[in-house]
Amino acid sequence: MLSTMNDGPLSIARLLRQGSGPHGASAEVVTWTGDGARRSTYAEVGRDAARLAHALRGLGVTGDQRVGTFMWNNAEHLTAYLAVPSMGAVLHTLNIRLFPEQVSYVANHAEDHVVLVDHTLLPLFGKLLPEMKTVRHVVVVGGDPAALDAPSGVEVHGYADLLAGQPDEFDWPELDERSAAAMCYTSGTTANPKGVVYSHRSIYLHSMQVCMTDGMGLRQGDRGLAVVPMFHAMSWGLPYAAFMIGASMLMPDRFLQPEPLVTMMAAERPTMAAAVPTIWQGVLAELDANPRDISSMHEVVIGGSACPPAMMRTFQERYGITVVHAWGMTETSPLGSLARPPASATGEDVWPYRESQGRLPASVEGRLVGDDGGILPWDGRSVGELEVRGPWVAKAYCGDDDPEKFHDGWLRTGDVGYLTPEGFLHLTDRAKDVIKSGGEWISSVELENQVMAHPAVAEAMVIGVPDEKWSERPLVAVVLREGQSADAAELREFLTGSVAGWQLPEYWTFITEAPKTSVGKFDKKRLRQHHAEGALDVIHLT
Ligand code: ADP
Repeated sequence: MLSTMNDGPLSIARLLRQGSGPHGASAEVVTWTGDGARRSTYAEVGRDAARLAHALRGLGVTGDQRVGTFMWNNAEHLTAYLAVPSMGAVLHTLNIRLFPEQVSYVANHAEDHVVLVDHTLLPLFGKLLPEMKTVRHVVVVGGDPAALDAPSGVEVHGYADLLAGQPDEFDWPELDERSAAAMCYTSGTTANPKGVVYSHRSIYLHSMQVCMTDGMGLRQGDRGLAVVPMFHAMSWGLPYAAFMIGASMLMPDRFLQPEPLVTMMAAERPTMAAAVPTIWQGVLAELDANPRDISSMHEVVIGGSACPPAMMRTFQERYGITVVHAWGMTETSPLGSLARPPASATGEDVWPYRESQGRLPASVEGRLVGDDGGILPWDGRSVGELEVRGPWVAKAYCGDDDPEKFHDGWLRTGDVGYLTPEGFLHLTDRAKDVIKSGGEWISSVELENQVMAHPAVAEAMVIGVPDEKWSERPLVAVVLREGQSADAAELREFLTGSVAGWQLPEYWTFITEAPKTSVGKFDKKRLRQHHAEGALDVIHLT
């Protein structure tokens, strides 16, 4: 029996219409300028999206051609997020922090036809453009387009000039909801980056999850601070969800350092925010040094790497802000799981739930696979690799069926942990970061969390290093808080009691800055490299 229901496509154009129509006057996008803000209502963004779509058609963008962005988080990037997929083209967010050869690799792989570039990024982009073989037009946002010295065959346009005089309405085509809407490449720490291609449907369904009370809980009237870059995992879906529900977006542009970020927070009063833990580490240190009123915030979503429990406690106890811990990947749109404790948990009992990576929503199925390929029970003990699938989870990479990463329609996450019978995911490591000491596994994340609970420690990274007796032992690299001191013996003593005796690390090193990836996560690969090159001053406690 067929249903009697309408079958209208779930599309980005729907989100665009909802945000710029019913929420057009009440919601706004705020772009930080360093000492103030630029503002546009969603109605204005909607009109600009129409103008941009007309302008792109004028540049010859047809069908599912790719339109790249090389931009910070700002109003124009939001406009492109909406306009490009709604006109049927495919938005390709280029990660400005990838290695230069990787940026040109992904632009060529995706066959970008047009790239929109923030003028502040022109010095960087100018060096990459000659290697981008399919780009025919560059649209410079702000500044002087003449500042870009383009190779022959590439036309350069100014964003404002291009949009001026274009109609402020566009007849958005009816698209197949399963067609490509946007793409994002994984950062590819080992091999070439791989392209994840999102569909209109996957983005639409994911947006609903972001807006669910037990999802990110984004609501109409919220002011969402998107610190997480729009060039990484679609800014965790916030821009689309904000247009769906009528939440304003606060965009820091290039002002991502703790001081301007906190100034923006005090001035623009976000109600929620999203970013990786390392950003918040800096924000908390800045607030310590130079207190500001951030009481407008009620929740902060932290993910991308494990959130240290000490950070969650600080947010809660010092600022009354609830940290919602989330796990996800570029391949999962990115919301995979989210840690909201069950209603029955109260008081201190909420913490084990909140510190976990949380529950997978109905749309993300998960299973744990053991070393021998067997499926493991959700018993809170059995540790294996997490595999997931669902309507916003990738089943392949663009032009590259990587059998390593996918099998039977499941995505192998490369993340290792266990699930409780109530469905709470506890990740202990990335498969490649697990430390095997004398045949037993040590969780590097667990050790990092424990070390970071010490008041003198700003950041801690743990990697496995070769050891004659145990084959591998943990090495802890510590960044101390400014003006604080602690030595290796004291830190090791601090761990006693919370870490099993045989896991207590004997190798320590103190570094001034933790190496970070293009999206601000701890870069263990680089730390390992530093260690292998003998660049670390290692203390061996006996
Ligand atoms: P990259 O591999 O470059 O970091 P992604 O942003 O797609 O690119 O990273 C996804 C990975 O980040 C996950 O597979 C997982 O290892 C890690 N991750 C994300 N969120 C969390 C979290 N809350 N706890 C632990 N690890 C996390």
